[in-house]
Amino acid sequence: MNKVCIDELELNNRRVLIRVDFNVPLEEGRVSDDTRIHEVLPTIRYARDQKAKVILCSHLGRPKGKLSPALSLRPVAEHLSTLLEGPVAMAGDCVGEGVQAAVARVRPGEVLLLENLRFHPGEEQNAEAFAQALAGLCDVYVNDAFGAAHRAHASTAGITRFVPVAASGFLLKMEIDHLGKLLAAPEHPFVAILGGAKVSDKIGVVKNLIGRVESFLLGGAMAYTFLRAAGYSMGKSLVEEDKLEVARETMKAARKAKVAFLLPPDHVVADRIEPNVPIRVVEGPEIPEGWMALDIGPQTREAFAVVIRGARTIFWNGPMGVFETPPLHEGTWAIAAAVAASGGTSIIGGGDTAAAVVQAGLADKMSHISTGGGASLEFLEGRELPGVAALSDRR
Ligand code: ADP
Ligand code: MG
Repeated sequence: MNKVCIDELELNNRRVLIRVDFNVPLEEGRVSDDTRIHEVLPTIRYARDQKAKVILCSHLGRPKGKLSPALSLRPVAEHLSTLLEGPVAMAGDCVGEGVQAAVARVRPGEVLLLENLRFHPGEEQNAEAFAQALAGLCDVYVNDAFGAAHRAHASTAGITRFVPVAASGFLLKMEIDHLGKLLAAPEHPFVAILGGAKVSDKIGVVKNLIGRVESFLLGGAMAYTFLRAAGYSMGKSLVEEDKLEVARETMKAARKAKVAFLLPPDHVVADRIEPNVPIRVVEGPEIPEGWMALDIGPQTREAFAVVIRGARTIFWNGPMGVFETPPLHEGTWAIAAAVAASGGTSIIGGGDTAAAVVQAGLADKMSHISTGGGASLEFLEGRELPGVAALSDRR
């Protein structure tokens, strides 16, 4: 990545504002999943070890520009202090005189967490005054919130116009390096596995990857919109009627580019989504009336695994079935196992796909699991991420 990274800067005694993604789930006032906090620890620890005055800022949930005590970052400060094995001070707000005073009290090597950025409407509006107020708190700005890099908000984009230097943190850099390689210099064969709930979420990625990949493997609910578009009846399966035309165009474009576009040849069906619901395997392409296709079938798992085995690069976004509801996780787990066993580079995108890979116990077998669902998709659609574009170029 051709952007300045935190390890290229002098941080000693400087006020270093790091935008992180602490948008973590809370239960009864405590952090219930701290994956996102763990991901940015290397950057925070580095700044602390360099004797920076570390100031962290993040959003949490959707308070819509208003103070909402339930969405305070205070529980995160407590949790972070356990992980860092040292105190983390908490500011009562993220801008204003009180915050300026709190920042002035931070000594080199200490950490201060600002309150939820989205308590102010200026954050999501990317308002100049708010961006300037944030910028006034620091000498160096660092963005390590990859999960928010596709948003042009004050703390990810606007602020960079008012700071001397805007650098990436280690997490953001690693994300861009891994995802960037998929577009710039992938090893071939390159296989894209796409699934999940909606065609509309992923169609931009499919379009941008035509001409870059040798094969698409399609599963999940989105496969049924494509099968419907090819003229088959899909029973009660999830089909996006308003996406049939774009599905047809996409299949045509893939044919023209001589890219393999594999839809599932068989399916696991049930008449409802419920744990341990009775299932049947049906050979496609049609789904019988009254049934819903909820997972890829055994023949599909095998056929997809053969393609995956031959791949040098794999990008996977979207579960192959309703993996949250056993036994409908089996297709997704089979694909996770095939990806884990392949010798190629494996990049996983999407929150649900990442969760499925973790549940399957295969997370450490993947080359990279992206921490930003929306951001990774927009990047692979070929769009510029505002939070990355705004960072200072390396000279
Ligand atoms: P990611 O978060 O990895 O990008 P998505 O959010 O696009 O993935 O999709 C995940 C959701 O898709 C899951 O909730 C899963 O239950 C659902 N899903 C997968 N296959 C099907 C299917 N055949 N029918 C209905 N829902 C499905
Ligand atoms: Mg999801």
